Order: sequence, then structure tokens, then C-alpha cells
Amino acid sequence: MTKLTYLDSLPPRILGIETEYGVLAAGQDGRRVVDADTVGRELFAPIHQRYQASSVFLENGGRLYLDVGSHPEYATAECLDLQDILAQDRAGAEILRDMAVSASQRLTDQTGIPTQVHLLKNNLDSVGNSCGCHENYLLYRTSQFRALADALVTFLVTRQIFLGAGALLRIQGETKFCLSQRAFQIDDTVSAATTTTRPLVNTRDEPHGDAKLYRRLHVIVGDSNVLESPTRAKIAMMNLLLGALEAGGDFSDIALNNPIGALQEITQNLPHQGKPLELVSGKQFTALELQAEFCSRLSRIYSEATLPAGYREVLHEWQAWIKALAAGDYLALNGVLDWPTKLTLLEKLRSRQGLTWGDSKLARLDLAYHDLVAGLNLESRGLAQRLTATHEVETAKTTPPQNTRATLRGQFIRCAQDHNLQFQADWTKLRLRGKAGGDITLSNPFVTESESVAKLLRAMETL
Ligand code: ATP
Ligand code: MG
Ligand code: MG
Repeated sequence: MTKLTYLDSLPPRILGIETEYGVLAAGQDGRRVVDADTVGRELFAPIHQRYQASSVFLENGGRLYLDVGSHPEYATAECLDLQDILAQDRAGAEILRDMAVSASQRLTDQTGIPTQVHLLKNNLDSVGNSCGCHENYLLYRTSQFRALADALVTFLVTRQIFLGAGALLRIQGETKFCLSQRAFQIDDTVSAATTTTRPLVNTRDEPHGDAKLYRRLHVIVGDSNVLESPTRAKIAMMNLLLGALEAGGDFSDIALNNPIGALQEITQNLPHQGKPLELVSGKQFTALELQAEFCSRLSRIYSEATLPAGYREVLHEWQAWIKALAAGDYLALNGVLDWPTKLTLLEKLRSRQGLTWGDSKLARLDLAYHDLVAGLNLESRGLAQRLTATHEVETAKTTPPQNTRATLRGQFIRCAQDHNLQFQADWTKLRLRGKAGGDITLSNPFVTESESVAKLLRAMETL
């Protein structure tokens, strides 16, 4: 049992999502027109032309860049609220989608072949490369980092029963529907390495803030979610758990004996058919039972009345999802969570056409589920739930969250652009190139007002 019994409120926490996307350029017959490097270059050509760089900070406070392996990545600005992180994350996806549409036109002109650039919000590509979706959570330096990260392991391993994006994977010569895209990509629990192993939680200590006060927890195990409900749930659930752990909550009684084995076991079965997993204590629980345990402990620890917007809904959904999945009723979550939605679509096509799981039509549907350019448009067809409003996302394309330092970064970038001034920005620094004034360091990510930024903005107005 947790020692902690009650928490008055959820402490404020900086939240950010980084999403790497897959890209491919195909002609009308589906064949690749150019290689992935060329697509990446073409996608970023306007950015490169404008900024002479392929890694830029935007006026909405987010970061857009072309990663190694030609994967474009968008990292949201620092957010505090659930609705902001949903809008900022989606704004990034839509910015990249628009870039893909214009790159399609340029590639068509260059090659003479009608070409469409596809933007894939998924975690696996056809040649086995993997794209990540990283969650970032500010931690208070006072927390015992290693103990906290260890305590998260059981949660991160089992949350895929709701949050997995679904994947058709070949396992021992047979194609199987799995819950998660990332489960087989992860081979360690908590580690600083990212090249030799891929852990659930990366411990690289880059706080993007005052290192004496803060740390940044870098979770790399999650699937990229296409739907908004799992995106909101993954951030909210983690935030509730982190608040409880930082306040002394103890979940060590449900530590898994073999977390990586469990991760790969869980992904291969529908939750109600999941096998019992061995705990360090010797007890056995299924992934569903462990999630039910997290849900009921956290529901008891927090008072719903004091939780910020969206958290009460997530706690209620969490209970409802457990109930539906325990009854084997994944159809109830069609249009709400990714893997149930994808499995419903695949099952429909499979039974209608009498296909085997290995059929390429199912593989194409699996991929189309993640395609933001020429995909399934489930939301606009009324087949999936949406939590953001169109106007919120439009605003988020140009406006940062107003309650973190991202608002200062946004003001600075907008002013520099309006006055055609060359600038540099990153998570903590703002600098005007070639002009006096020096660097401004914003080491407190919660700050929303700064005299030195105000002074710099005034100076920029007169330049
Ligand atoms: P890379 O992906 O290049 O390895 P990185 O992990 O530092 O570098 P970025 O892509 O630059 O990642 O994204 C950093 C993410 O961390 C952003 O989503 C941002 O909002 C978030 N972030 C910034 N400052 C903090 C902070 N103090 N605490 C938690 N998250 C933060
Ligand atoms: Mg990144
Ligand atoms: Mg990262």
C-alpha cells in the first residue's frame, strides 16, 4: 500500500511532447519517387531558405527540426495545462502536414511524376527504423530521481493496454496484431544510453532549466498516438503518478520481476487475455489488474475538486477503459483509443475479404492509420473522438502557452521576425545576432514576465 494517503493538489509541472514523424514520397501507383533523405530535405527547404538552418524555434515557442535518418521532429513548447499540450502537439502535426503538402507540389514539379509526400505519425518504418515520441516532465530536484524512475517502470510497462497505437508485427514467422509499436524497440528500463540500448526512461540530465531546482524526466517508451484521448491520458496519468511519487507515494509493492519481458508479453495479447506477470514480491497480476491498482490508488490520493481541468475526466475514463477491456469489449473504445480503433478497422477488412493477418492490404491499412496527409480522416468522418477545437489548434500554431516561459520566447521570436532581425533561441536562451544586448537566460521555465525580455523587445522596436 502507499504510505501517502492524500494530496491537496497537483503541483504545477512543465510538460512537453516531442514527436518524430516518418515521411515517404510516393507516386500514384504507390511506388517511392525519391529516397527519404531527399523527402526530408525538400520538406525543410522553405525552412532552410528562411533560417539557413534545419532546426528552428517557432513563434509558438515550439521547436521544429530534421533529425538524423530524415525524420522531421516537432517538440511542443513548455505547457502546464492538458488542453494546451493537446493543442500544441496537434499544431506541430498540422504545421508539418502543410509542409508535406507543399513539398509534394515541388517534388511533382521537379520529377515530373505526380507525387504525394506522406507524413506518418507512427513509430516504425518499412525498413525497421524507429521513430520516437518522447514525453518530458519537469521534476523537482528534491525528488529521489532514481527511486522515482524505478517506481515508474511498472506503470510505463503496463499502460500500453490503453495507450498503444496497435501494430501488425511479424513474430516468429507469423504476423500478429500487437498493442504497442514500441514494445519490441525497448530493451532496458532506466538508463542514460540512447544508442547502445533504448530504455523506458532516459536519465540524461539535461534539465532545460535551473539544474539546482529541476530535472527533466525523459520518457521514451510511448507510442505516438493518432487520437487525442490517449495523448491526453498519457500526460495526465503520468502527472498524477509523478505528483504522488514526489510526495512520498510508494508503489514498490507492485514492482515487476522482469519489466522488459512483461512489456513484450503484454503487447501480444488483448488485455483481457493477458497473462499474469510476476512481481518482485512473488505475487502475480495481469497488466489490467496493475493498471486498476494505479487507477484506484491515484483516485484515492487526489481530491477531484482540486484537480486542474481535464484530470477528473481522465480518472473517470481510466476506470471506464479498465471495465471495458476487462470484459473483452474493445469495440466500446473504437474511436477513443488507438489500438482498439485500428483493430476494429483491420478486423472489418479482414473478415469482409477473408484475409490472413499477413496480407499486404492489412499492412497498408495499418500504415494508412498513421498517415496525416492521405490517411483515414476518422475525426472528420465522425468516427473518432476529438478533444481540441479547430480554433484552439489554429491559435497554437502561432501562440505559445501563456503560463510558461514559452510565452516570452514567442514574443521575442515574433518581434525579431517582424523587424527582420536575425535571432537565436533555444529552451533557455534568447539572443539577437550581431547586436549588443547579450544572451538572455530564462532558467525558470515557469516564468511569464521578464524585465530583460521587455527591455530587449523595446530595443528591437527601435532597431
Ligand atoms: P533531442 O531530442 O535533440 O535529443 P531533447 O530531448 O532536449 O533533445 P527537444 O526535442 O529539444 O528534446 O525537446 C525538449 C522538450 O522538453 C520540449 O517538448 C520542451 O517543451 C520540453 N521542456 C523544455 N524545458 C523543460 C523543462 N524544464 N522540463 C520539462 N520539459 C521541458
Ligand atoms: Mg527531441
Ligand atoms: Mg528528446
